[in-house]
Amino acid sequence: MSEIIIPLHGLSKGRQEFEFKLDDSFLDEFGNGVVNGVDGAAHFAVERKGSWIEIVCAVEGEAKVECDRCLEDLYLPVDTEQKLTVRFDADPEEVVNDDDNTIILVDGTSEIDLGQTVYDFICLSLPLQKVHPEGECNMETVSKIGLDSSMEGQIPANTPFSGLKDLLKESN
Ligand SMILES: [Zn+2]
Repeated sequence: MSEIIIPLHGLSKGRQEFEFKLDDSFLDEFGNGVVNGVDGAAHFAVERKGSWIEIVCAVEGEAKVECDRCLEDLYLPVDTEQKLTVRFDADPEEVVNDDDNTIILVDGTSEIDLGQTVYDFICLSLPLQKVHPEGECNMETVSKIGLDSSMEGQIPANTPFSGLKDLLKESN
């Protein structure tokens, strides 16, 4: 369980708000990902709409990732808002659900853990190419990477070069 637990039982009429601070400890559970650090907050507006519940989730802050070009720390702003629909069913596994933003829970579920969801939102909000602005990379590391040909094949798929390859393919 992460620390981002939203109660679903006993929601009073109208909209209820919840806020959670996000720091590096939030990532402990989701380790080894793209995001190495985070500083920000997740804000939820929860509203019961009859048989289902709407949750508007906004995440704001800063994420620390590795720069694709120089491999040094790179801080990227995070500012994303997603609308989630929570539905209930006696047998959720039997329900066809092809909407990423719809969550189906067993009837009577009293709370929902949105830690993984928030983590996914952060990852999805980051650009594919994670590089420092031109001229702000650590040139020492860049040239080291460039000279060491044994690094070939180990460069992550989302480097500027893989994008170039796709462009060349498209123009043919
Ligand atoms: Zn860089």
